[in-house]
Amino acid sequence: MPADPTRVVADLLELRSLTSAEVDGGIPQTVGGEPSSAPPLGSARLAWTEPWVQAREWFASTFDGVPVETHVDPAGNLWTTLVGARPERIVLGSHLDSVPNGGWLDGCLGVLAGAEVLRGLHRDGVELPVSISVVDWADEEGARFGRSLFGSGAVSGTLDVEAVRGLVDNAGELLGDVVARHGVELDTILTAGDVLPSIVASAELHIEQGPMLEAAGLRLAALHGILGVERRMVRVKGQACHAGATPIPMRRDPTVAASRMALAVRDLGLEHDAFTTVGVWRVHPSVPTAVNGRTEFSVDMRHLSRDTLDALVAGLDELVARIAREENVEATVDVLWSIDPIEFHPDLVQFAADVVEERSGVRHVMPSGPMHDSAEMSRAGVPTVMMFTPSLGGLSHTHIEDTATADLELAVTAFDDLVRRMIGWAADRLAAEAAT
Ligand SMILES: [Zn+2]
Repeated sequence: MPADPTRVVADLLELRSLTSAEVDGGIPQTVGGEPSSAPPLGSARLAWTEPWVQAREWFASTFDGVPVETHVDPAGNLWTTLVGARPERIVLGSHLDSVPNGGWLDGCLGVLAGAEVLRGLHRDGVELPVSISVVDWADEEGARFGRSLFGSGAVSGTLDVEAVRGLVDNAGELLGDVVARHGVELDTILTAGDVLPSIVASAELHIEQGPMLEAAGLRLAALHGILGVERRMVRVKGQACHAGATPIPMRRDPTVAASRMALAVRDLGLEHDAFTTVGVWRVHPSVPTAVNGRTEFSVDMRHLSRDTLDALVAGLDELVARIAREENVEATVDVLWSIDPIEFHPDLVQFAADVVEERSGVRHVMPSGPMHDSAEMSRAGVPTVMMFTPSLGGLSHTHIEDTATADLELAVTAFDDLVRRMIGWAADRLAAEAAT
């Protein structure tokens, strides 16, 4: 029997009950639609903590009776491999870690669906021309130390070891000390990338974490890429002064200037059909009786086109300079983060779109706004693709994150179809390589 979608939902619920903590005093909450789960529990699988280790131990037990090879790589990623005729592998990866009080599906759906696809291939006695590895990427969320895509970034080589060495969590613990307790040594972590030449392709099933599919009445989507990100910190400096003594026309108010900039940032996003977000917002000295002396805010800008990202960057620089001039304040724009848009492999996108159409009746292909481990696979040159299942209310990174059971099951079935198509494709590709 191919992948059994009811088994995946049962596994997800079991993992949830094993690794959840009560939140909001246990008041039940749902987000509309047909909730597939009841308990008001938040996931507590913060990376490098006991519940996360427990989740992994439980995960290993779901392969009882299946002849898999299991190992943890130098970056803490957990690999479970069904060995085929060749050592080259298809990776089915996502993450078991969660944000504090997180949901039961973010990441876990991809890992547990991958596991069931693997078990299904074994049950069916499929003669695998290539190996299949289910990977639980370590610390995808970066919720504890602020570095997302930790394990997959180590494999792709984008992890800046010196930059993460000094990161501390809220308890003041050093990242290096914490990961060492889990067998990860920063000095050798990048050797996790030695596996790269063996990866022929990569696929990830994930929840959408946004409202688009639900709003469009769609139950499944293939992804053709991930939006690029340009993140900036805008620092505006004016002159602090007494709120009762300085008339408005005589002020140099950085908060007023920053507020105008924030509105212009929204217009910039609308104009370019992009996501633009002011997230961090800090004012100094932040007292009721003073005009502030400084205001700073972050701007996160996302789009699938590099050209549009460049236009957004230029647009931000222009609006900040213009409004600063008009408000008689000084402003600087500093780069926080920059990542190019990611385009998934066209053959694999086609397969994903085909199975989405066959299983849901609608051929829907979209990009992801949020980052995923698949971005690191793709950046490392691995042919990669993803699929999305809807998120009820568009919510994620909250304990009320949910997806209708029927949609979860549909997604698992479609993901199984996708992987089975990728196996033949990967074998052909390796044969073609060998022939040249
Ligand atoms: Zn995730």
